[in-house]
Amino acid sequence: MIPVNKPYLPAFSKYSKYLEQAYARNWLTNNGPLVQELKLRLEDYLGVKNLMLVANGTLSMQLAYKVFALKGNAVTTPFTFIATSSSLQWEHIRPVFADIDPKSYCLSLDSVKKHINNETTAVVPVHVYGNPCDVDGFEKLRESHGLKIIYDAAHAFGVKVNGKSVLHYGDASSLSFHATKVFHSVEGGAVIFRNSDDYERAMFMTNFGIDTSDGSIVSDGINTKMSEVHAAMGLAVLDDIDLILAHRTALFELYLKELTGYVRFPVWHEKSNYNGAYIAVTFSSAEQCTKVLEGLKNENIIARRYFAPSLNTLDIYCAQQSGSCPVSEHFASATICLPLYFSLTEKEVIHVCNTLKRYL
Ligand SMILES: *Cc1c(COP(=O)(O)O)cnc(C)c1O
Repeated sequence: MIPVNKPYLPAFSKYSKYLEQAYARNWLTNNGPLVQELKLRLEDYLGVKNLMLVANGTLSMQLAYKVFALKGNAVTTPFTFIATSSSLQWEHIRPVFADIDPKSYCLSLDSVKKHINNETTAVVPVHVYGNPCDVDGFEKLRESHGLKIIYDAAHAFGVKVNGKSVLHYGDASSLSFHATKVFHSVEGGAVIFRNSDDYERAMFMTNFGIDTSDGSIVSDGINTKMSEVHAAMGLAVLDDIDLILAHRTALFELYLKELTGYVRFPVWHEKSNYNGAYIAVTFSSAEQCTKVLEGLKNENIIARRYFAPSLNTLDIYCAQQSGSCPVSEHFASATICLPLYFSLTEKEVIHVCNTLKRYL
């Protein structure tokens, strides 16, 4: 069987070498040395500052909203994983869905402009499949409208625009280090703040609102900590990250080569690079998509609609929704992600592509 995804496992000896440090110190959590080391190495690797590690990617989104004290509504995309909008709703910020751009599959700037109203405090775009949004366009919107821009960058580890990390854009970006992501720590995530003031405020809020200088409690707080055990996995995976990215990108490019002319792909940001996070293909109709999915399954190849359904059509959001999002709804019905993970071989990719072509 060829699954759609498989977590990357570093050599156990490498992982245990980091774990042994935690054992030797008898230090398992509370901003320990492994978490501190992972933070510094990630800042260095990604070329960013103000990176804060947290327990998962969803929490990193919630933390960003909280630091900016968002209220009212936030304009976001329906073509994403549910966590993008459920994290807003959980923090009592109403998600308002604008449509996506049919080329990039990312949130359309024009559609966002039509959905902004006097209760809008933020825009939450997603770099879908690791393909950067119109970051320059959103930057102008941020300046002209005084809105906070918080990127869900869960797919965008290692992605650059104009030679610098895509994580530099907006007021904050959120990464997920879930086991299925390009870089992972089993569970985990990070927020990257543009301003160090916001980073400092976040550090404070996430230590239960305790002022560590004297132990007094001075504000509301929460616990978002990453443990030393999770950081150990993160460090072991980070040791191998160049290999992981190179192999995944090579497989991604092989898919493009084999399937060009047969299916449609998202058009990549022209000043960016691939990170091989996901290979998404779109068919001409939902029916053709279903036929291929079932055909692949018959041959023990697992692919899946991703993302589906378009979130604006969910019952939990319908009541508060005004318009539809036709582009997102169409793409959600006719787009799948094909198998892509580190232990997948080029031979298997060719096999997946040939099988797919047979069922077209
Ligand atoms: C994985 C993912 C998340 C959530 O991350 P977790 O670490 O699983 O909480 C959020 N948004 C997108 C787009 C994702 O793919």
